[in-house]
Amino acid sequence: MGDGKDEHGYHLFPERDPRNPKHEPFLSRVYGLKIRCKARLKIAMDTSPHVKLLLAAMNQAGCTAYRDRHFACEECDEKVGGGFDSSTSEIVICQNNINDQTTMNRMLTHELIHAYDHCRAQVDFLSNIRHLACTEIRAASLSGDCSLGNEMSQFKFGVKRHHQTCVRDRAVRSIMAARKFSQETAEKAVDEVFDSCFNDREPFGRIPHNTAEANMAYKEFRNRGRYYANI
Ligand SMILES: [Zn+2]
Repeated sequence: MGDGKDEHGYHLFPERDPRNPKHEPFLSRVYGLKIRCKARLKIAMDTSPHVKLLLAAMNQAGCTAYRDRHFACEECDEKVGGGFDSSTSEIVICQNNINDQTTMNRMLTHELIHAYDHCRAQVDFLSNIRHLACTEIRAASLSGDCSLGNEMSQFKFGVKRHHQTCVRDRAVRSIMAARKFSQETAEKAVDEVFDSCFNDREPFGRIPHNTAEANMAYKEFRNRGRYYANI
């Protein structure tokens, strides 16, 4: 019968070992978060019009994103919700910081805009701060990061002013979080490219402020595709 140490096969299943109480809760917590993250990712890809439109646009641009290959649920620093790794074309989803479906949908939309920009424009996010500023402006504006209800300061500035002010601030903060640039350098880059990048609403064709507007944009995108296909 041996010395009793491995008779239950706990060496194969350390999470089930009652003699290992410190190890078990951490592992099962991480495992649970990963399962939930993957489930929310699937729901977003199946139901969010923002996400579905971006996936269709990526596909049309020749950069089809596959759920198993281009999306990874991982543990991250508590300050970040997700990221786009341009070297591997992977979107990282921070399973420990995404706590509901709405946050998942918005974060995925934000990162998919970076992936879309990377695909269509061969942008250089790593060394060109103006490229980085441009994609952060577009991601903040089109993802819903600055939509009504997501921030309260709209009452102070009015809806339109609020949206632009919020987009500018978020783009500056994202640049500073991603790279070691000073606030002054980040602000200068954002201001230089703001107008042209803010007005580039591809592939939505509009700022999709809510689900209804995103559904409309998705419908228009599909009709555009059908029109081209009929020529
Ligand atoms: Zn970003």
